[in-house]
Amino acid sequence: MQITLPDGKQLDLPQGATALDVARQISERLAGDAIAATANGELTDLMTPLPEGAQVSLITKKNPGDAAAVFRHSLGHVMSQAVGEFYAAKGYSADQLKRGVGPAIENGWYQDFDLPEPLSEDDLPEIERLMRDIIGRKLDFSRREVSKAEATEFFAHDPYKAELIRDLPEDEVVTLYMQGDYTDLCRGPHFPTTGRLPTAFKLMSTSGAYWRGNENNPILQRIYGVAFATQKELDEYLHLLEEAKRRDHRRLGKELDLFFTSDVIGPGLPIWLPSGATIRRELERFIVDVELKNGYQHVYSPALAKSELYKISGHWDHYQEDMFPIMHLDQEELVLRPMNCPHHIQIYAHKPHSYRELPLKIAELGTMYRYEQSGQLTGLSRVRSMTLNDAHIFCRPDQIQEEFKAVVRMIQEVYEVLGFKDYSYRLSLRDPQDTEKYYQDDQMWDTAEAQLREALSDLGVDYYESPGDAAFYGPKLDVQVRSALGKDETISTAQLDFLLPQKFDLEYVAEDGSRQRPVMIHRGVISTMERMTAFLIENTAGNFPFWLAPRQVMIIPIADRHNAYAEELRAELVAAGLRAEVDTSSDRMNAKVRDAELKKIPVMLIVGDKEQEARAVSVRERTPEGHQERKGVAFSDLKSELVTRYQSR
Ligand code: ATP
Ligand code: ZN
Ligand code: ZN
Repeated sequence: MQITLPDGKQLDLPQGATALDVARQISERLAGDAIAATANGELTDLMTPLPEGAQVSLITKKNPGDAAAVFRHSLGHVMSQAVGEFYAAKGYSADQLKRGVGPAIENGWYQDFDLPEPLSEDDLPEIERLMRDIIGRKLDFSRREVSKAEATEFFAHDPYKAELIRDLPEDEVVTLYMQGDYTDLCRGPHFPTTGRLPTAFKLMSTSGAYWRGNENNPILQRIYGVAFATQKELDEYLHLLEEAKRRDHRRLGKELDLFFTSDVIGPGLPIWLPSGATIRRELERFIVDVELKNGYQHVYSPALAKSELYKISGHWDHYQEDMFPIMHLDQEELVLRPMNCPHHIQIYAHKPHSYRELPLKIAELGTMYRYEQSGQLTGLSRVRSMTLNDAHIFCRPDQIQEEFKAVVRMIQEVYEVLGFKDYSYRLSLRDPQDTEKYYQDDQMWDTAEAQLREALSDLGVDYYESPGDAAFYGPKLDVQVRSALGKDETISTAQLDFLLPQKFDLEYVAEDGSRQRPVMIHRGVISTMERMTAFLIENTAGNFPFWLAPRQVMIIPIADRHNAYAEELRAELVAAGLRAEVDTSSDRMNAKVRDAELKKIPVMLIVGDKEQEARAVSVRERTPEGHQERKGVAFSDLKSELVTRYQSR
């Protein structure tokens, strides 16, 4: 048979030849380096017969790509063997250990076991040691094709494998993979030998998992591992996990008393505790100030409305799954709003408008409710009741570009203050082929897209285009901010909308007296208060900048006799608008300092005899590098310094 290599070269091979045979024909060195291959684009291993006429490409360890799934899964077999040896050493026979499934997953693999006695996390290092030992034995993986009957006989002792085999079609060729004296039922693909598996792996945890995910079935014990081609990648991954744990906003939210959710109130309905509420209030004040300066008008509108409103807007048809069910009253049907747009449209429609009044920018910290699935709910980042920094700009078609640019400039201004430096712009366009999703009006789309592109290039920002990601009613710009953990999150968005003005029959009187349709821009700059706060907690690891810090100043008297002086300073700072407290506990000074650090309070003022006499303080503050100390600073100077720092954000 013939196969074709990536460079177009053809090789003649006997029937049933494998990717390893291909590698050997090219060079012995390649045969030594190969770990897997693709045949016609599909991942395969070195032991599986190739299909006639296949396009074959060999994969080596240096460039594992998709083969990472192969080594991860192969390590799963090695772990399975190691667990067998672990229980054999305890005196159990091989038949007493049964196995569920063991696929590769993102970054690693898992394997389910029915064990003669449960495994604890403390046993994982020993199993890891056995795995390294098996790798050192350089056992070849071999592949054998058997009939269903043979397979059934082989796994007679294992009800889980027996069930899997039973479910296969009658004429299916079943494959077994072996390394050393260990055999498993498996479709492959696998590495050629344990000796070529990476040693950059770690067993992470164990948990219970129902057989086949069905809670009427027995619970098996699942062991998770992670693996990478190189130790460096593994180290980076483990470091990232540690960081994610350290920064987890749910953990910090509890430690710093920012928010909680309770079963009695309901999942996804967070309560903002005083410290969390302080962060939110600061964010709200900040964004409202910026919006007022930029010509927005702030309103309040109710979080519920007649279902009729959402029928006109189209949310009823398109968004109902995400809405809480209808409330039926005597004469009315009410729903909790999942978006604020229809209310703002009613505000626009409340009065006639002339072209001179446009753009009209209606803004609100709009509270809304979405019926998110309970499994999706996460701390503050995905909730069911949320308040969005929302606004709708109603403008003339000739104003789109200017308004759009103003939104982008405002986003940049806000990010500057929030300290977001690493972000990117994604311009989401329609897919012209997709006539089902997108509102049909070629000219409208072409003009709108051209205008947004031009606006972005005027602003001189780099952006990338993403066809097929537009909303059904118009193109949009999303701004993705890279988090401290390296994940991109969409924080801001600006969406052009030609459809809702039409559905609600919005108008303005043009210069020539004719009635024209305005265009809407939906925009959010700092997202929901919930998601933004979660993002900020994780990004700062709880070390908020001074203006956002829920507790800004801790005054630490060295001895009880300094309490009165400390209290006097506190009252003055609070009167100046700052958030200050005194630690009057009986702890020693060092313990008080440590405690304030744990609470992530950015400024400490330490006061003793000397300070009191001179009406001064010793300042200890957090800096990006650690902390900085200043002794004998006059209190009045310090106070105005802090007030300036607070007000200038
Ligand atoms: P997602 O894709 O995250 O569900 P979305 O595309 O539905 O969001 P929009 O309808 O554009 O979001 O909502 C506006 C803003 O509200 C977005 O910035 C998003 O980050 C935020 N948001 C959406 N759903 C939630 C939620 N369940 N909890 C907190 N914030 C949310
Ligand atoms: Zn396998
Ligand atoms: Zn909107």
